[in-house]
Amino acid sequence: MTFILSGAAVSQTVTPTPLPDPYWVAFSSDAAKLIGLTTSPNQWPTDSAWLQVLAGNGLLVEGANFSNPIATAYSGHQFGMWAGQLGDGRAILLGDIQGQEIQLKGAGKTPYSRMGDGRAVLRSSIREYLCSEAMHALGIPTTRALAVVGSKQKVIRETVETAAVCTRLAPSFLRVGHFEHFASLQMHAELQMLADDLIGNFYPTCGDSTAPYLELFKAISARTAHLAAQWQAVGFCHGVLNTDNTSLLGLTMDYGPYGFLDQFQINHICNHSDSGGRYSYQRQPQILHWNMACLASAMLPLIEQELKQANVSMSENDLSNTAQTALRSAIALYPEIYQTAWEAHFRAKLGLLESQSDDVTLIESLLQLMHHNQIDFTTFFRHLANLSTLPSSNQNKVLRDQFLNRDGFDAWLLRYRTRLQQEHSNDQARKQRMNLVNPKFILRNHLAQAAIEAAQADDFSELSRLATILCNPFDEQLEYDAYAQPPPPELNSIEVSCSS
Ligand code: AMP
Ligand code: MG
Repeated sequence: MTFILSGAAVSQTVTPTPLPDPYWVAFSSDAAKLIGLTTSPNQWPTDSAWLQVLAGNGLLVEGANFSNPIATAYSGHQFGMWAGQLGDGRAILLGDIQGQEIQLKGAGKTPYSRMGDGRAVLRSSIREYLCSEAMHALGIPTTRALAVVGSKQKVIRETVETAAVCTRLAPSFLRVGHFEHFASLQMHAELQMLADDLIGNFYPTCGDSTAPYLELFKAISARTAHLAAQWQAVGFCHGVLNTDNTSLLGLTMDYGPYGFLDQFQINHICNHSDSGGRYSYQRQPQILHWNMACLASAMLPLIEQELKQANVSMSENDLSNTAQTALRSAIALYPEIYQTAWEAHFRAKLGLLESQSDDVTLIESLLQLMHHNQIDFTTFFRHLANLSTLPSSNQNKVLRDQFLNRDGFDAWLLRYRTRLQQEHSNDQARKQRMNLVNPKFILRNHLAQAAIEAAQADDFSELSRLATILCNPFDEQLEYDAYAQPPPPELNSIEVSCSS
């Protein structure tokens, strides 16, 4: 397990609160493989000890003894404002198996629960489970979800709901907020231990540099920029991109009021509570950049320290200025890394093999048309793979008819076709390429909602079916065509609140 230091400002031992009469709601046999646990596809383990451990009712299970569960302290910026200390208010780290930390979310109060009850409701636990596994299947770095365990215990939110525990797996759950926590308390020794731990376990090449901490910052920032590009390419909106929800490993984490775009709306806000749209779709890349600036400022003492070691004679003032300049240059690398990755993803979505100087115009003009014509993001790219390069083809009608602005689409299509012809693109090969990057199935809110409502009535079959479909998002799975469709108009505007 990474980074266990003692002291209340860092982490504390905590015992999960038992969950009465727990039952299995969902289990990912694919995630289970990560910890060497083998079960039939999406079947929970037959050993009931696992059910008890994942409900927080025991600490012993075959092959594992979780005798020292902990919760960690972190701080963070929420909605752009310094929020002070937060911490694992309802997440308990049991221990690790095969390099995967095992964390129970919703297993009761911890020393960092503040006013909260330490619980999670079935609804939000299912949402976290489904999306973690769907994102993984889409090839997007994410924390994983091993299981959801439910109970009839009541939990008060906006209405009375029931409790559940979602078990998450990740090589580490460390966040930008961990650095911010130590920096804000001027705990420089802990700051350094955290950085050393990250380098040792996850960023080993940074250790070879003459400035390992600066390299660590650059590496985290680069991973984050790539993650942002992947989200934009699949239409994923996180919803609460606070620094305490931003992973130091470049993973998608802390699934709350997230959403996938149905119709392409550049300014889509998935979180009902985000009235200002701080975390809207179009702002995600720049918000993660902003979060990297928070990380940089938290890492400043480390960069000063490593400069000091290399330049013993430099004055304190010069050291600080040089460290700030170095970090500023490092922060400035993000936009270009992001832009290059974004272009590459969208070029691939269009099936283009070569890069050309006007690619951005081609991509952006399409996105503008999609925005103004309210085109479903996922099905559009999937159908675009079927486009024929022959101008007269009837196949193109399916696409064209979605646009109110047909002239606009025709003009774009002409440019796209010309581009494909320049590449001597073969329709069949292009279709295959495109279908490997443009998913047919994404976790649309209305699909999650149907699975949740059935599960709330103790029917977990829809949840299991949906999870199975989303495990293979690029496959045709013709029998499940209905799951690939945009929501019917009456389900278009499901609002998701922060309450969880
Ligand atoms: P989130 O918005 O879910 O990332 O949560 C922000 C902070 O509030 C984190 O420190 C959480 O651990 C904490 N938190 C959220 N819900 C609860 C709850 N029901 N009980 C205790 N802490 C919570
Ligand atoms: Mg969080």
